[in-house]
Amino acid sequence: MSIISFQTRYNQRPHSGLRSAFSQVLERLNQIWWGPPGLPVQLRMEQRFVALRYMSVLFVAPVLPLLDLSVQQLVAAYTLLFFFFIYNFGVQTLIRRHSIWISSGYITSVGDGFSTIMMVFIGGGFNSAFYMTLFGTTVAIAMRYGYGLSMLVAGTYILLDGVSPVIYGTARPGTSGDFFFRSGFLVLVAFLGSYLRAQAYAAEVALAQQLNRASALNESTRALNASLQLDTVVRAVAAEARRLMEAEAVALKLDPEFSGRTVYDLSSLPSDDLQPQACQMMLNTLLAANVSDDQPAVKMGLTVDGRWYIVAPLQNRGGMSGYIAVMRAKGQPAYAQPDAALLTSFIDRAILAIENAGLYKTIGDRRQELQRAYAELATAHQELLCVDEMKTNFIANVSHELRTPLTSVRSFSELLLSFEVDDTTEREFLEIINTESERLTRLINDVLDITKIESGQVAWHMKQLNLADLLQISARTFAPLVEKKGLQFELVLPDRSVQVCADSDRVLQVLANLLGNAMKFTPQGTITLSAEVAGDVVLIHVRDTGIGIAPADHERIFEKFQQVGDTLTEKPTGTGLGLCICHDIVLHHGGELWVDSELGQGSTFSFSLPIASSPVLIAA
Ligand code: ADP
Repeated sequence: MSIISFQTRYNQRPHSGLRSAFSQVLERLNQIWWGPPGLPVQLRMEQRFVALRYMSVLFVAPVLPLLDLSVQQLVAAYTLLFFFFIYNFGVQTLIRRHSIWISSGYITSVGDGFSTIMMVFIGGGFNSAFYMTLFGTTVAIAMRYGYGLSMLVAGTYILLDGVSPVIYGTARPGTSGDFFFRSGFLVLVAFLGSYLRAQAYAAEVALAQQLNRASALNESTRALNASLQLDTVVRAVAAEARRLMEAEAVALKLDPEFSGRTVYDLSSLPSDDLQPQACQMMLNTLLAANVSDDQPAVKMGLTVDGRWYIVAPLQNRGGMSGYIAVMRAKGQPAYAQPDAALLTSFIDRAILAIENAGLYKTIGDRRQELQRAYAELATAHQELLCVDEMKTNFIANVSHELRTPLTSVRSFSELLLSFEVDDTTEREFLEIINTESERLTRLINDVLDITKIESGQVAWHMKQLNLADLLQISARTFAPLVEKKGLQFELVLPDRSVQVCADSDRVLQVLANLLGNAMKFTPQGTITLSAEVAGDVVLIHVRDTGIGIAPADHERIFEKFQQVGDTLTEKPTGTGLGLCICHDIVLHHGGELWVDSELGQGSTFSFSLPIASSPVLIAA
């Protein structure tokens, strides 16, 4: 409690009271100097002048008694100061409330001009020290409002100076030199102040322009980076270039490495006399003139019909990427060096965006290629696995098929060697051994055949043959066997002689296999061997009235070791390789092999052979 009261007393010392009053005045002046926040530039300057006027009152008021003035003059001067103070307060209020009245400059110019001239009159006229204040006012007006107002004020001062002898009622000889001297200086000061203001204004405008350009450039760059799709980026470059350069039309011609296209961006409101197509043609002409040029450089100019244009190369460290042409509408302002510089800066950024998009596209393409290659590899791998599996199955099947007849041969020969058997049993055993040996031989032959055909080791003896001869040879061999089995055999030859180019042994092998199968799987009925011409090919059919094949097995029976039916209970008499060999042989002759069959309805195996004169065979 005592400490607080001590501090309060301490703070209230007279000396400290003066200091705080002083700091309050300073703070007040500071507030007046800066004015309310957010004032426009012109009013900010007026606000400073409000502070300067208060300071001039503070300065002049104590100095007045020191000047050699009469009592009436002093009274008049203080009265004027008082009104000057009121006027300044008014200006300060107007800045806050009706800024528009102040920003034109007329009120303060008239107010300041009038106050100072009054002070000059009170202080002893134009030859007195008060004349100096006119310089201050003139400079202040010149710096704020330029030539017009400052010259008007200076002119008024000079006029009043000129007529002052009349006002004072006394002609003062010898003072005309002074009049011209100070009037000349006053004009000079007004001119100098206005000139400095014009310079500062121009610099300000240039700076604002630079800032505008920089922010427009940044905005355009941001727009370019919005996408990574090459097409979108290129279109954005053209659109942003048009916006940035305040152009009517833009053409962007890219090198082949970036698609080689030319992209246009034209104003949605083209100038009346320029239709889009004509506009594109003009841009193409501009580009062509520069593309053919050996030295790529930025070029500015005016088209014959009076449109300003800039053509610039899209160039980076790695080389050229293309050209850009921007063209303004007729009657628009000329392009200047800063515009070319702006376009160049934009191009630097645009190239980066285009290159990024190009790179992204390349990466995308590579990724797709890689994915394709990977998929192909996966398929090839799968195929290899299948081939490997088929090979393993093939070996397993061959071993299995070999072991069955071998076991029979071995068992029955052992029985014959170990036991005394009667003649009938011996003959029966020997027949089994013989049948199994034949089956073994057939199997080995089939395996060898298929291996040789598939590895391309077969020597094909292709000759021109009469098909009827081939069919008759086959029929002669099989007819007795078929009939012996209690079946009927029919041979139907084509109605005209047909020549085929074939390996006769191999075609006979196919026929033997098909007829053999037909015999095997037909308990009763007829087996027919027929041929017919169908366009460029001859179709050979082996038809039976046997057990038939279910549609689900039609494809399977052409695969290796595939036998239809229950292979465990019904011991197959074949090898399961016959149809596969037939298929390979027919395929080699340029034909096809297929089956038409229904379970229990018999089967028709057909194969085609190109007729010897057919274009298919000649081409082959
Ligand atoms: P196989 O030597 O076992 O006959 P194939 O490859 O010649 O071998 O025949 C494969 C399978 O096709 C046969 O096991 C049989 O099931 C079926 N097949 C072939 N021809 C006929 C036919 N004419 N009638 C019914 N089934 C047949």
